[in-house]
Amino acid sequence: MPHTHGEHHTRKSKSLPEEADLLPADREDSPLTQLIRKYLNEEEVQLVWQAYRYAEHAHAGQTRKTGEPYITHPISVACILARLHLDLPTLLAALLHDVVEDTHVNSAEIAELFGKQVGDLVDGLTKLDKVELQTATQAQAENFRKMLLAMSQDVRVILVKLADRLHNMQTLDAMRPEKQKRIARETLDIYAPIANRLGLNPIYHELEDLSFKYLYPNRHRVIDKAIRTARGNRKEVIGKILEAIQNQLTQYQIAFDVQGREKHLHSIYKKMSEKSLKLSQISDIYGFRVIVKDTASCYLALGALHALYKPIPGRFKDYIAIPKANGYQSLHTTLFGPFGTPIEVQIRSEEMHNIADAGVAAHWLYKTTDAHLTKLQQQTHQWLQRLVEIQTESDDSYEFLEHFKVDLFPDEVYVFTPKGNIMALPRGSTAVDFAYAVHTDVGNSCVAVKINNELAPLRSEMRNGDHVEIITAPLAKPNPAWLNYVVTGKARSHIRHYLKTVKVEESAQLGERMLNIALRAMHIEPQDISDKQWQKVMNDYSTKTRQTILTDIGLGKRNSLMVAHQLLAHPAESDDKSTKTLDTITIRGSEGMAVQFAQCCRPIPGDPILGFINKDKGLVIHTHDCPAIRKFKLDPEKWLDVEWDADQKKLFKVNLRITVSNERGMLAKIAATIASAESNIDNVSVEDSDGSQYSNVNFTVQVHNRVHLADLIRNLRKIQQVVRINRVKGTQAEQRIQ
Ligand code: MN
Repeated sequence: MPHTHGEHHTRKSKSLPEEADLLPADREDSPLTQLIRKYLNEEEVQLVWQAYRYAEHAHAGQTRKTGEPYITHPISVACILARLHLDLPTLLAALLHDVVEDTHVNSAEIAELFGKQVGDLVDGLTKLDKVELQTATQAQAENFRKMLLAMSQDVRVILVKLADRLHNMQTLDAMRPEKQKRIARETLDIYAPIANRLGLNPIYHELEDLSFKYLYPNRHRVIDKAIRTARGNRKEVIGKILEAIQNQLTQYQIAFDVQGREKHLHSIYKKMSEKSLKLSQISDIYGFRVIVKDTASCYLALGALHALYKPIPGRFKDYIAIPKANGYQSLHTTLFGPFGTPIEVQIRSEEMHNIADAGVAAHWLYKTTDAHLTKLQQQTHQWLQRLVEIQTESDDSYEFLEHFKVDLFPDEVYVFTPKGNIMALPRGSTAVDFAYAVHTDVGNSCVAVKINNELAPLRSEMRNGDHVEIITAPLAKPNPAWLNYVVTGKARSHIRHYLKTVKVEESAQLGERMLNIALRAMHIEPQDISDKQWQKVMNDYSTKTRQTILTDIGLGKRNSLMVAHQLLAHPAESDDKSTKTLDTITIRGSEGMAVQFAQCCRPIPGDPILGFINKDKGLVIHTHDCPAIRKFKLDPEKWLDVEWDADQKKLFKVNLRITVSNERGMLAKIAATIASAESNIDNVSVEDSDGSQYSNVNFTVQVHNRVHLADLIRNLRKIQQVVRINRVKGTQAEQRIQ
C-alpha cells in the first residue's frame, strides 16, 4: 500500500535524490556510514546498520509520493543527526522513528531489540506525532512549544523531531501549495523557535529560510536575487577587507580562522519588515566570523580589528560575558570599512563555535568512554544547570527557555481544551482542576469528563497532550470529596468557598430538586414515595429527618441518583427481605445501597473504580480499565465517581490466568501456595492445551486488596512450573473443570 502519512513528503521527480542517497545505508560508501565512521566504533556502526536493516524491512513497500523508497527519509534524518555527532541511541531512534507509526511494530519490540533507551525515544517520538495544534495564535504557539518539550522527557526526542522536520521541509516541493504553507507556518511558529532556543543555529536558520521560501515565495525570490547581485558587486571590496583582516590578525600574532558569513534571507526579511526598511537600506548583508583558540584571544582579536577599522558606536555586543539564553557566546561588532561599507564581525573561540553550531547537542559531542567529561561537555552541563537555576529564581518572567526545565524536571502538564487551546496545569492536576481552570462556573457544575473522547472519572490525572472536555449539568454542585484530590489552589478555594457559603436551607431545597429530577428520570413521581420508604432509607443512613438527607444531597455529600435508587429499592410492601448483597461499607457514600462488583473486571480494593447505577442491580462497580466500560454508551448522569472505603476486611474475587508447564502435581502446588497466602480458590478452569507443553489455568481467587494480590502473585511466581501470571479483566470464556 502506498504510504500516505501526512507529515512526509515526496520529492519532485525532477529533483530525484542523489545516487549516493539511494545506496543501502549499511555500505561503507553510503553517506550515513561515512558520517558515523568519524566518531562511532565498529560495534556501534554495526548496530546502526542493524537498525537500518530493521527499518528498511519494516517500511518495505512504502514509498514517498514519487515512488522513492520510504527508508530514504529515516536515513536522511539520521544523517542530519550524525553530522551533529549525536550518540548511538539517538541515531537508532532516528532510523526507527516512523516504524511504530506506520507499520505493525510496537515500541516494546524496539526496546527488546535495541534497548530500553531507544524504545523510550521512539515511543516519545510516536507520541509527539499524535499531538497537533489547531489554533495558531502567538500564545498558543508558545504553549504548544512547551507541550512538545514537556512531552519529550529526553531532549534527544526533540533533536530527532527537529531533524525529522528539517528533512520534511527540505523535501516539501511535491506538496500542494496550501499544504506547503500550512507546514511552513507550523515550522516557523513552533519548530524553528525550539531549534533556536536549544542553540541549534544551523538547523534553526535552515528551518526559517525554508519556511520563508514556502510561505512567501515571491518575497523570497526578490530578496534572494537582490542579495546575490549585491554580493557580486561587492566581491572585490570584500576580498580586500578579508585580506586586511587576515594581515592585521597575523601581525598581532593571533592564531585564527576567518570565514565569510552570509546573512540568512529570513533574518534580512525580518529586519526589513520590523524596521520598515527597503532592501537597499540593509547594508550588513555580509560579515565575517573570526574563530580563535581561546577566550583571551577573542578580546585580543577585537582590539586588533578595532585598531584596523573604527567600530560603529552602539553596535558592540559582548555575548561572552553575558551569553544568550540558548548558551550562545561571541563578540559582535560592526566596523566602518573602506568606502563606507559596514562590516559585521563575530569573534569566538573554537569551543564557543561548537556550541553555536550544535547547541544542546554539543552535550553529546566527543563523548568519551571514560567517566570524565570533556571541557565542552562540562560547559554544556553547566549551561543546562544554569537553565534550571534561572527557572527556580524567577517564575514571573516568560522567557521560553526557562521552561526547558519542564523537559528535564517536568512540573507542568499541557492539555487541549475542546476548542483546541492549550492549557498549562501543575503536574498531578485532575479533571476537576482543569474544570476550574477553564472557568469557576464550569468547575462548580462539572459532573463528568471526557479525556481523548472517552469518559473518565473526575479524579483522572491530566497527561500531556490530552484532549479534555468537561461535561456539566445545570444543577450539579461541587462535591466535598473533590478536596481529596484537587491540586490547584484555584479549585481548592472555590470548592471550600462554595461549601462555606451554601446555607443549609438552600441546600435542602436544591437537594430536593435534584432528588426529584433523579426520581422522575426513573419514571417515579416524588409524591409516590411512601413514608415507609423514606423511613427505611433514614434508618440506613442513621439520620432522623428527611431534611438531613436532602441537605446532604444539596451539599454534594450524597448522590441524588443513589438516594433515589435506595428509596425505590425498598418498596413499601416488602419490608426488608432484600438483604441479599447489602454492602454498607465497601463503597464510600453507598450506605444501604446494593453494591455489586462487576463480574467482568472484578475490582478489588486499591483498584481505581467507577460506579454505574443499574436499575435492577443497584450500584455496579467496575475498574477504570475494564473493557466493558467502553461498551456502555454512558449517560454521564448515571455514572458515579466512587471510592473504596478504608479498612476492608472482606475478601474480593479476582480472576487470574496462570500459564504453566504441564507437569504432574502442578495444580496441587498452586493450590497450596494460594492457601498459604491466606487466599481462597473460588473457581478453577483449564483451557484446552492442544497437546502443547503449556496450559492456561484460570483461577478465581479471593483477596483483600491489591497488596494482598501482589503478595500472592509473587509467591506463585516462585513455583518453577509457572511461566506467566495475568490478572484478567473483561470478558473471557470460562471453562469449568469438573
Ligand atoms: Mn518522519
